[in-house]
Amino acid sequence: MEDLFTAHHEMGHIQYFLQYKDQPFIYKEGANPGFHESVDDVMALSVSTPKHLRKVGLLDGASTDDPEATINYLYLQGLQKIVFLPFAYVVDLWRWAVFQGEITSDAYSCNWWKLRG
Ligand SMILES: [Zn+2]
Repeated sequence: MEDLFTAHHEMGHIQYFLQYKDQPFIYKEGANPGFHESVDDVMALSVSTPKHLRKVGLLDGASTDDPEATINYLYLQGLQKIVFLPFAYVVDLWRWAVFQGEITSDAYSCNWWKLRG
């Protein structure tokens, strides 16, 4: 199942690149890496719903209205996506400081662990 989601995420990247292929060089990248990843995660999330998985025969059961299944699905999404946000935020703080020259290569690790606190 993880591979199914990863494949759709990566197909999101491919679709993104295909849509940008005829643009001038400056426009061949997303506005920022986070935007690129969010487009790709939309692709992966769209195929991970219980309704879709039943439709393509990867999940047993006829009902899509089971409240317990819905709560379990939303809880799993929360564990996978929401708890990642603080980590992603710290990564971008660190990366931004590196690009601004506020963190130099001799202190990459030290500053990373300071931000991780
Ligand atoms: Zn990606």
